[in-house]
Amino acid sequence: MAERMLRFVTLDKETPEKRPAGTRAHDFDEIYAEFAAEKAAEQASRCSQCGVPFCQVHCPLSNNIPDWLKLTAEGRLEEAYEVSQATNNMPEICGRICPQDRLCEGNCVIEQSGHGTVTIGAIEKYITDTAWERGWVTPLKPRHVRTQSVGIVGAGPAGLATAEELRRKGYQVTVYDRHDRAGGLLIYGIPNFKLEKDAVERRVKRLADGGIVFKLNFEVGRDATLDHLRAQHDAVFIATGVYRAREIEVPGAGLGRIVAALDYLIASNRHGLGDAVPEFKSGALDAKGKHVAVIGGGDTAMDCVRTAMRQGAKSVTCIYRRDRDNMPGSLREVANAEEEGVTFDWLTLPKGFLGQKNVEGVRIARQRLGMADASGRKTPEEIKGADFTLQADLVIKALGFDPEDLPTHFRTPDLGVSRWGTLRVNPSTQMTNLDGVFAGGDIVRGASLVVWAIRDGRDAAAAIHAYLESKAATENRAAAE
Ligand SMILES: Cc1cc2nc3c(=O)[nH]c(=O)nc-3n(C[C@H](O)[C@H](O)[C@H](O)COP(=O)(O)OP(=O)(O)OC[C@H]3O[C@@H](n4cnc5c(N)ncnc54)[C@H](O)[C@@H]3O)c2cc1C
Ligand code: SF4
Repeated sequence: MAERMLRFVTLDKETPEKRPAGTRAHDFDEIYAEFAAEKAAEQASRCSQCGVPFCQVHCPLSNNIPDWLKLTAEGRLEEAYEVSQATNNMPEICGRICPQDRLCEGNCVIEQSGHGTVTIGAIEKYITDTAWERGWVTPLKPRHVRTQSVGIVGAGPAGLATAEELRRKGYQVTVYDRHDRAGGLLIYGIPNFKLEKDAVERRVKRLADGGIVFKLNFEVGRDATLDHLRAQHDAVFIATGVYRAREIEVPGAGLGRIVAALDYLIASNRHGLGDAVPEFKSGALDAKGKHVAVIGGGDTAMDCVRTAMRQGAKSVTCIYRRDRDNMPGSLREVANAEEEGVTFDWLTLPKGFLGQKNVEGVRIARQRLGMADASGRKTPEEIKGADFTLQADLVIKALGFDPEDLPTHFRTPDLGVSRWGTLRVNPSTQMTNLDGVFAGGDIVRGASLVVWAIRDGRDAAAAIHAYLESKAATENRAAAE
């Protein structure tokens, strides 16, 4: 076994050409599977079954982590999978991309005692990937078929989780999405190196095979109004995410090759999926051979810097106005990016962009941290006379996202929004101010996480089910009278 494990670490799953001569893909998969089973059991057995499962408390889905760790440690993988999937519609996806250092693993008692966390996310991914391989993931089959229908706007994780839960209860479910593929940011935002797209596609296929209808390239607001959907369905769930990119308004901001993070990531993901992407081919959205500056300190910025490194950029610099301790992104992601060669220029703020037609450099003002603001975060202040210029021939803006103006876009001016433009919902039912219209995911929370979108989707499905049962009972009573 030791020899096999050694061979595993010399192999690189993503670059088959690096396999040692004479080793076939089949050998690799076998070795990988054997290694992973042992490793998963070994890791799972580190769980102390502490009795106060802080990991579970800090998982937005309240996953029963101690139980599936125990089953994994005992080699009872199918049962571990059953427990894990009972509270999560996409455990293998969360296992890959949850910021575990801020959620379950960051609160593991073993981690708190200084002995290194149990790698909960990796085990969650492993048991569900194994379930797919061994056919334990069963088809989606409604218990009994109902005639009531639900329209879901947005095929991201919130929309997909709602669709699955409602279909399981037998409703007729139609999911509308303006993109040509379902998955939302799982497909077009999160880079391939963090989340392989076939993991998302097999989930979507299972839903479509289970009778959920996907209407793609269908934009609500353009191809139908919200009122049209309300007339067609007994309930509607809005899960459109947040997509209005925040802008930076400084001299030179209109120069070429200054691009929005999502445009850049979508082009990269489309290219990875095999689509023809003219802006990628022309180099406008490809970092290869370029000096790249990424502005922002969140997780989207981390995805951009790491994608640019993989595309073969000459240099990649992250410009962020606060310091490492005060950045919003995951510190694990920063460590990964640094390991890959990204430079972090902490305490820097762009003052302007230089160049003729396309950007050639960024004029940067150095910052120091002053007093804390109302949120408790220290406010950056400019250090006078410390400006400098950074060479850059591709600048990626990753300054965060705001919601689009849905009441206007959907031609439903009465739809209630908060002062940030997110949809207002009743927290216990997730219903908006419009009867039978529910909402969840980023469009309610603001830019958040996949695991919270799934949680909202599951909660909304339960609330929609209760609403439709009560509606049906009222209609039946009225018909009987
Ligand atoms: C670059 C990036 C990286 C991220 N990385 C991570 C990560 O590693 N881990 C993590 O947990 N979270 C991550 N997130 C956040 C996570 O992706 C989101 O919180 C999550 O996808 C929100 O799910 P959602 O279903 O609410 O919306 P989305 O995933 O945004 O899906 C919304 C869907 O609605 C569709 N839509 C929008 N408007 C309309 C309309 N008018 N008509 C029809 N369809 C419409 C969109 O096309 C889209 O498919 C990342 C986000 C970004 C931008
Ligand atoms: S869903 Fe996310 S937070 Fe919950 S156990 Fe899995 S990785 Fe941890």
